[in-house]
Amino acid sequence: MLCSDAGLLSNIVASQDAAHAPYGGVVPEIAARAHMSKIDAIIDRAVQDSGLTYSDLTGIAATSGPGLIGGVITGLMAAKGLALSLNKPLIAINHLEGHAVSPRLTEDCAFPYLLLLVSGGHSQLLSVNGLGDYTRLGSTIDDAAGEAFDKTAKVMGLGFPGGPNVERWAAKGDDHAVKLPRPLLDRDSCDFSFAGLKTAVARAYVASDGSDTAKANLAASFQRAIADCLNDRVARAMTQFAEGRDGPYRFVVAGGVAANATLRDGLKSVAAERGFDAIFPPLRFCGDNAAMIAQAGLERLQAGHVDPLNAPARPRWPLDAEAAKQAPASG
Ligand code: ATP
Ligand code: FE
Repeated sequence: MLCSDAGLLSNIVASQDAAHAPYGGVVPEIAARAHMSKIDAIIDRAVQDSGLTYSDLTGIAATSGPGLIGGVITGLMAAKGLALSLNKPLIAINHLEGHAVSPRLTEDCAFPYLLLLVSGGHSQLLSVNGLGDYTRLGSTIDDAAGEAFDKTAKVMGLGFPGGPNVERWAAKGDDHAVKLPRPLLDRDSCDFSFAGLKTAVARAYVASDGSDTAKANLAASFQRAIADCLNDRVARAMTQFAEGRDGPYRFVVAGGVAANATLRDGLKSVAAERGFDAIFPPLRFCGDNAAMIAQAGLERLQAGHVDPLNAPARPRWPLDAEAAKQAPASG
């Protein structure tokens, strides 16, 4: 729960990681059922923790996409039920907009800014021109960065979710030990590709002796390859972003992968070289959290934007307007 004057009042996150861990990835049916069984208690706790009552609320914001549709529908339906029974406005939020505005929870991060969104399902470079106004400069043509971390961890049996585990193992390894590809690095665009890297990691692991040293070296080499790709694309995007625009220039990294300290350090250096202020949300707001959705909801509500009670749940919903027009709605 977020208040325009008092700030963040409560932020309850119910992690499902333990339920998905045995499968090495998110299982849609488990995710949907976990949402169903937890949603009422989570909402109650969020209200209790805030010290307010349901009737004190001014609006109800909920993710309406994109994502695994079972969980999205559960959350959106709960929000619609609350909005209807309390007679409060509903604000249907694009989950990616939540990530995009997450730095604004704690920093005076004014629009416009260049955004690197790196999460479990997305890898994108966007110009965030204002609330709801995004221009896409590049995106992955296959896997997301977080997905590559998760699959790398799965191949080596490092545990789920992959990102933090790969980062821990990488800290003990030599990042030059294994030669891995940097897909698309020679191309003049801001797009990413991580599928080839993932396959190369799997091959390298099979060819190794499977020892802890081999795992640490491969994790470190993989993380270095991801860093090189992100740094190169971000440098290009900074040039594009700054063209025809006056400074100061801000650069935000958001999404679960933004929690990675090595990647942060590399991106900070790229930003410093190019005269951009680098802004990272605190770790607790990098991965999925309620606060970022509340932030997007509050900003939308303040801008006079509310949604009808038949707002659809969308499995796919690109942030940038052009693509969004073509996005199918369902549910
Ligand atoms: P999306 O936001 O695209 O719909 P998502 O909500 O599943 O996807 P997030 O919760 O934002 O994704 O981020 C989860 C991802 O972040 C996972 O792929 C996870 O491995 C990755 N991640 C988390 N911590 C780290 C880390 N320290 N280093 C690298 N990756 C990390
Ligand atoms: Fe997310």
